[in-house]
Amino acid sequence: VHPPRLVTAAIGGTAPGAWLTAALDLVFPARCPVCSQPLGDGRRDPLCGGCWNAIERIAAPWCTTCGLPFGTLEPPAGPEALVARCGPCARQAPPFAWARAAGRYAGPLRDAIHALKFHGRRALARPLADLVLDQAGDAWSAGVAALVPVPLQAARERERGFNQANLIAERIGAATGVRVRGGWLSRTRATRPQADLTASERAVNVRRAFAASPAVNGLDVVVVDDVLTTGATVRDCARALAAAGARQVGVLAVARVI
Ligand SMILES: [Zn+2]
Ligand SMILES: [Zn+2]
Repeated sequence: VHPPRLVTAAIGGTAPGAWLTAALDLVFPARCPVCSQPLGDGRRDPLCGGCWNAIERIAAPWCTTCGLPFGTLEPPAGPEALVARCGPCARQAPPFAWARAAGRYAGPLRDAIHALKFHGRRALARPLADLVLDQAGDAWSAGVAALVPVPLQAARERERGFNQANLIAERIGAATGVRVRGGWLSRTRATRPQADLTASERAVNVRRAFAASPAVNGLDVVVVDDVLTTGATVRDCARALAAAGARQVGVLAVARVI
């Protein structure tokens, strides 16, 4: 529901201030883009308190490399817990030093990401970035020099008008003081939409699909994406950044398919 123009006109003439926002909120309560309810207690604008709290967060114990939660397995204890790796990471180290996703790609988190990407609800980048910082702070190091969003294909970005990974990176950057370097990764060729492909097809589809700027040479950088499915895209991004001389590559994502 949008406040009709006549309300603004009736108050008329005065510069809109916080009191006006509060007054409009009483008459026309802001509604959550996921569940359409008024935002209510615990709101994380524009997400309502109910949806925010219902997000299934991913928490330790997890693989300290890829960030997959160990789930119901008994967590490793003692000093081992600090270097605990899942089976696949122990067998073959991935091209990134660490990866973390804030929540499971399900329920209100999945709906919020859809609303951001496909319905242009850009303001959702703010609570989603907050979620990333809340859940993934353990992997963050003081030496991170830049956040590098996964680039969209040019045609896709033109059609959508924005890159959701870039919006999320901008919010994380604003909260942490780390610069966002959108131009440090680029796509070298067109790829098919990953959503249509199986896991092995996804890996082939994005292989060497990215190139990194030599500006990353010697730096710690963090790749930012909205959703990790198989992780093929961020692995290829990490390979490209490492090939261009990045000292260490981390990965932050809002959600992950588990
Ligand atoms: Zn909601
Ligand atoms: Zn792992």
